[in-house]
Amino acid sequence: MSPPVLYDNHHRPITYVRLAVTDRCNLRCFYCMPEEGISYLPKNQLLTYEEMLRLVTLLARMGITKVRITGGEPFVRRDLMPFLERIAKITGIQTLTLTTNGVLTAPYVPQLAQIGIHSVNLSIDSLDRQRFACITRRDELPRVMQTLYSLLQHNIPTKLNVVVMEGKNTDDIVPMAAFTREHPVEVRFIEEMPFNGTGALAPTLTWNYRKILATLQAAYPDIEKMPDEPFSTAVNYRIPGFKGSIGIIAAFSRTFCGTCNRIRITAKGMLKTCLYDQGVLNIRDLLRACPHDDAPVERALRQAFGQRPKDGFEAERHRNTSATTESMSTIGG
Ligand code: SAM
Ligand code: SF4
Repeated sequence: MSPPVLYDNHHRPITYVRLAVTDRCNLRCFYCMPEEGISYLPKNQLLTYEEMLRLVTLLARMGITKVRITGGEPFVRRDLMPFLERIAKITGIQTLTLTTNGVLTAPYVPQLAQIGIHSVNLSIDSLDRQRFACITRRDELPRVMQTLYSLLQHNIPTKLNVVVMEGKNTDDIVPMAAFTREHPVEVRFIEEMPFNGTGALAPTLTWNYRKILATLQAAYPDIEKMPDEPFSTAVNYRIPGFKGSIGIIAAFSRTFCGTCNRIRITAKGMLKTCLYDQGVLNIRDLLRACPHDDAPVERALRQAFGQRPKDGFEAERHRNTSATTESMSTIGG
């Protein structure tokens, strides 16, 4: 039986949830967190695995078919694998994916293959060890590369997330694209967003999607557009003869809101119906207030889906503070 379709107030289907299992992280990527880290949530404020399973089961009944596990760094939460196994078995969940920084991930890759993970997004902003260490403030590129090669060995479809940052890794754009010559990965260049946990960011974005594309076109004049999957945030390209492909995500320019099919659940159980909103519903408290009855939770979710901002700019205008001080690690990237 095909699942019911869940629509928002702009008649966009909602089929995809991004679930942050922790706000903690073992790296300190400067575009995501300050060097000293962020103040982490006390454990009792985090959704428990049982609460997350209950919530995803409810969302699947409502029409969600895809789950991405993210964070913080998912693998810093204990017992992640048994939780993933259970999520993968929820009726209605057709696609389970994961975003990870890859530092702790390599030993789990065979199990990820075994549970049938659909794909993994690995964050890797530079292939140069020094630049990587400068961006993430940790010298962990070798372990991340081990994860990458293990994912390829296990034939797990892999996307490499590269946040493009003025003065940090723009020299990596062409080498990253070159990596797709021999490796069947999708390298995704992402515009930097103002979620670095400090609120400090230049008011204009120098490296927007146009400049990234122009850089690629200058190096590879034969780069060609590929068809994009429905609801894709990435605009996709390939270089003829290369095994992999390239995506550009206008995360700050927000060119894809018209087809946005995703919602987010933060580690403390706030629902975000847009990345740029401040959190619109405290699901954790609702789940805890009605431990044996999903009906009030479902009602509140439906109400929130019926009031979604039309795009990230509208969501930003509705925030009650103008400064964006959250870390992507708290939001759930
Ligand atoms: N720790 C995991 C990781 O890094 O893959 C998962 C969580 S992280 C918040 C998810 C994604 O968000 C990563 O690919 C990261 O590069 C991206 N991200 C974090 N802060 C960002 C920012 N300010 N602008 C754009 N992307 C960002
Ligand atoms: Fe950690 Fe991911 Fe944020 Fe980097 S981007 S600090 S790896 S949560």
